[in-house]
Amino acid sequence: MKFVDKAKIYIKAGDGGRGCVAFRREKFVPMGGPSGGNGGKGGDVIFVADNSIKTLLDFKHKRHFKAENGQAGSGSNKHGKSGKDLIIKVPVGTVIKDTQTGEIIADLVSSGQKATVAKGGKGGRGNAAFKSSTKQAPDYAEEGEAGEEKWIELELKLIADIGIIGFPNAGKSTLISVLTKARPKVADYPFTTLSPVLGVMQIDYGKSVVLADIPGLIEGASKGQGLGHEFLRHIERTKALLHLIDISDFREKEPLEAFRIINREMEEYSPKLMKKPQIVVGNKIDMLSDRSDIEKIEKEFTDRGYRFVPVSLITGEGIDRLKKEIVNLYNQIEEGEKTVEKT
Ligand code: GDP
Ligand code: MG
Repeated sequence: MKFVDKAKIYIKAGDGGRGCVAFRREKFVPMGGPSGGNGGKGGDVIFVADNSIKTLLDFKHKRHFKAENGQAGSGSNKHGKSGKDLIIKVPVGTVIKDTQTGEIIADLVSSGQKATVAKGGKGGRGNAAFKSSTKQAPDYAEEGEAGEEKWIELELKLIADIGIIGFPNAGKSTLISVLTKARPKVADYPFTTLSPVLGVMQIDYGKSVVLADIPGLIEGASKGQGLGHEFLRHIERTKALLHLIDISDFREKEPLEAFRIINREMEEYSPKLMKKPQIVVGNKIDMLSDRSDIEKIEKEFTDRGYRFVPVSLITGEGIDRLKKEIVNLYNQIEEGEKTVEKT
């Protein structure tokens, strides 16, 4: 799957229905008063940010979108039905720009946020609406207004759900490649000094988790490479962290010490990040000669209230359990968000 973070599409709101010219017909009244109803309003094109959508892939194939037209008015003062709005779901974090002017029309940053991007045309008035004391029998009506139409550009700044942190060589890059199929294109990512490595992990039909390799960036920061405010803001939107630790015979530091050093570094860099829930992943158990070490290390972390998952990214041992832990964590986060949205 290729990751698409930009898409250009054409949208058109519905035209308003035309007004009707009609006159009442009654027994013994050859021509009654005007009775042409108004046309209905055209449907709007509305964008809504939806958590379950993670990419702009859908817009690669379908590029034209049109809301329903309003119906024409009819006799007996019947108004035309309004056209249905067209609701287009996009990922949270989508910015919508007018292609022609370059102007930002909408920036959908939270789930459920909506923006009307093309307005439907008003319905035309029927001849009944033109009746006045001086005009008893107007024989004209209005056309409906045309709906707005435009080319727009969707741009998604990918929002990472879960960040991966840990020392160099802990296996962060390997973890991303093991867990994710899609590797988004990072070339024109807005954060240029250091490209974060992102991956999309499919967890369910139509549901996915975006993972980001953060630690490389923290390492970069401590080497004096600028990260930029925007990157920080982005990374701070992650909802949880996987803290990867080498627990093999060849580890350079004791696991708990490595854990603390990275956390301290992260706290300096961003106290907000430190508050995210963390799952500790003990990696490289294929190179651990004394397996009873796993339990000892696990206890050190669970005693401190952390979930600990031993894995080998090379042999695949423990990966299924890790995936389950990630899915659980993700679902908990989503539940939490729903409750927050409701309150
Ligand atoms: P990063 O610096 O945290 O991104 O670490 P990498 O993913 O680049 O991994 C560093 C090295 O550790 C690479 O040579 C990997 O092949 C190796 N590695 C990663 N996971 C495992 C594992 O579970 N077992 C073993 N034996 N080696 C691993
Ligand atoms: Mg790496």
